[in-house]
Amino acid sequence: MSQSDVTHTQATNLIHHEPIHLPRSIQPHGVLLALSPQLKILQVSNNTQEFLGKEPHHLLGQPLDTLLNAEHVKAIEQSSQQEGGCVNSFKLSIQTLKGEQYFDSIAHRTGNTVILELEPTDSLKQISFLSFHALAGEAIAKMRNTSNLTDFLHLVVSEVQKVTGYDRVMVYQFDQMGAGSVVAEVKREDLSPLLGLHYPSTDIPQQARELYKRCLLRFIPDINAQLVELIAAENPEMHSTPVDLSLSVLRSTHPCCVEYHQNMGVAAILIIALIKEQTLWGLISCHHQTPKHIPYEMRKICEFLGQIVSLELEHKVNQSELDYKIKLQSLQADFIESISKAGNFREALVYPKPRLLDVVNAQGAAVCLDNDITLVGTTPNIEEVRTLIEWVDSQISDNLFSTDSLPKLYLEAIAFKDNASGLLLLRISKVRRYYILWFRPEVIQTVNWAGQSNESIQVNADGSMTLCPRVSFELWQETVRLTSLPWKSCELDSAIALRNAIVGIVLSKADELAKINQELERSNHELASFAFAASHDLKEPLRGIYNYSNVLLEDYAPRLDEDGVEYLQTVVSLSIRMETLINSLLRLSLLGQSQLNLQATDFNELLHQVIDVIRASRSPAQLDLRISKPLPTIECDPVLVSEVFSNLIINAFKYNDKPDKWIDIGYLDINEQVEKGLLQQQQQTSVPVVFYVQDNGIGIPEHHHQTIFRLFKRLHSQEKYGGGTGAGLAISKKIVERHGGHIWVESTVGIGSIFYFTLS
Ligand code: ADP
Repeated sequence: MSQSDVTHTQATNLIHHEPIHLPRSIQPHGVLLALSPQLKILQVSNNTQEFLGKEPHHLLGQPLDTLLNAEHVKAIEQSSQQEGGCVNSFKLSIQTLKGEQYFDSIAHRTGNTVILELEPTDSLKQISFLSFHALAGEAIAKMRNTSNLTDFLHLVVSEVQKVTGYDRVMVYQFDQMGAGSVVAEVKREDLSPLLGLHYPSTDIPQQARELYKRCLLRFIPDINAQLVELIAAENPEMHSTPVDLSLSVLRSTHPCCVEYHQNMGVAAILIIALIKEQTLWGLISCHHQTPKHIPYEMRKICEFLGQIVSLELEHKVNQSELDYKIKLQSLQADFIESISKAGNFREALVYPKPRLLDVVNAQGAAVCLDNDITLVGTTPNIEEVRTLIEWVDSQISDNLFSTDSLPKLYLEAIAFKDNASGLLLLRISKVRRYYILWFRPEVIQTVNWAGQSNESIQVNADGSMTLCPRVSFELWQETVRLTSLPWKSCELDSAIALRNAIVGIVLSKADELAKINQELERSNHELASFAFAASHDLKEPLRGIYNYSNVLLEDYAPRLDEDGVEYLQTVVSLSIRMETLINSLLRLSLLGQSQLNLQATDFNELLHQVIDVIRASRSPAQLDLRISKPLPTIECDPVLVSEVFSNLIINAFKYNDKPDKWIDIGYLDINEQVEKGLLQQQQQTSVPVVFYVQDNGIGIPEHHHQTIFRLFKRLHSQEKYGGGTGAGLAISKKIVERHGGHIWVESTVGIGSIFYFTLS
């Protein structure tokens, strides 16, 4: 099967199932020998003639000393005793037909087999420590001096390119799902940049990623080179299972990897694994457009650099995560301060807009306070959010809920996946419908995907490349469809901290309010007791003043002159007035303390009784009283409500200078209340009846519409409009409020007034 015959499914199978560490071939730039524990040659690559001047079948089954001198055999013997994973390398020379040949000998043990690989080299000279230091030391020093992750990774690619000379050096970072993106890059100027591109996880499949954790460096000097098969000895020691070449430097390249890089126009690669906290964090990936060989020692230096980078990476990544956390914390602090200061909690959350999004790094948010929904950034529409909240209400009981694939849980979300494939939900109150929702778009909408738009493979003449479509891409798209970027744990913490702060602030405000209420109740109570005691106690001396003044008038009038008599008469009338005032005060304070005697009351009957009493003291001609429609039956304290009607009707007559006085009494039903603008259309459930008493009297200036309800507040002198105590409206207000209602007036001077009241 040629590579071009690879169908989608077959390629998938190749990617996932064929073990890439057990190939039966190697790359052709060296020789591989598989040895028994006693160093008998069991398997060789079919290129020994070319490198060693010996046919494979002349080597198979022979002891290693047919090839190497005793000293070298001894060194390799040591490798055979070392634990698997330990690689032993040194330079050696072998006498071949072409004369003395130099090799890098690289040996390691895998299971019961010793793998010896020989790569030709120019000389037996080792790189000295000083040259090594010159190459790696400077790079390491610079890396340590960079402070942030981006600068650090950029420096890494620059230094690796400097040391190795590859056309392109990139750092490729994996995400939690194994997909990756290019986060740093240096390249030959004429090559198109790959920085910022994302790749599906299938591009570097799971088993390849696992292998990078064991074998930190992978070197392919010529991706197009013909592979060399391994030949096994025909004897019982050689089993049918292929040798594990996980740690082999010559391990052949998987056909998928070859195709992948050929499609990219890459001829040589060097990959160095970056490990953070025992997991594969990313790769330093070096590409060359033409075949490129790097000596083994130089590769060892690169591997060493990779390890230093890995170590430093841990520190830099932690630092950058810490920086991000600090940023989130400072946003939270900012939030908490504005919420604690703000009168309007919603405004404090929503303004400035970016803050609400930045606090969890979202693209959209909705603040829902009962039915009031405010949208910020890119979100579903208000109706979609409302329905989503209904779903949340019925499905989610936790205060914090997050998902990076909402449409998979809530099908309706498919309609707004572009705006909200990710949801982070914060429930602020269980009693009220208080929520903050944050949204993230579907990931495909947000990132640059490598190869997304290309229809065909295009490798340009100059070696630069255009990305090919990959079978893996569609596969990958399927896995991330309807998915957003994941929510980080520090972002979830940030949301929780915000909730705690809000709840804390709201609770402390409620506490404060409860304290104020308590204090108010106490001082109200004291005031009522004081008013009662004062009015009660004052009545006795007042009665004394009245009595003695009368006695003086009756018995001593002849001894007083005219003025004296007049003064005494004033004392008598003032004390009468004072008694009336005290009685009003007493009435008011008793009203505050006594229980309501609630009963279902027919207001038609109640009003007729009130009118009968009023008529008894006035001439019938004076009373043009209209009751527009039959009144309802309502639960109330009828004696007290009669007093309210009585006060309002008497006032309506008193404060009227028109020759034809009239009074209209009635109530507004719901529709009339909406018509009058007292009610919003949508609030039409269980609204209280509004009673009114309207007159065509003198009217009340607007600035007195509130003050007339104060105790003893009168707008006229005693002599005008028949006098009064100024207590009638204050008492009416108290009665209405005791029922849980309100009283207010609408009035125009010279035209008339309407007093409205409700009883709940
Ligand atoms: P009083 O009538 O004993 O003075 P009220 O408390 O009943 O006391 O009324 C307070 C004041 O409000 C009155 O003195 C009057 O100036 C004004 N007022 C009350 N009702 C009316 C009305 N229907 N028209 C105009 N003014 C009114």
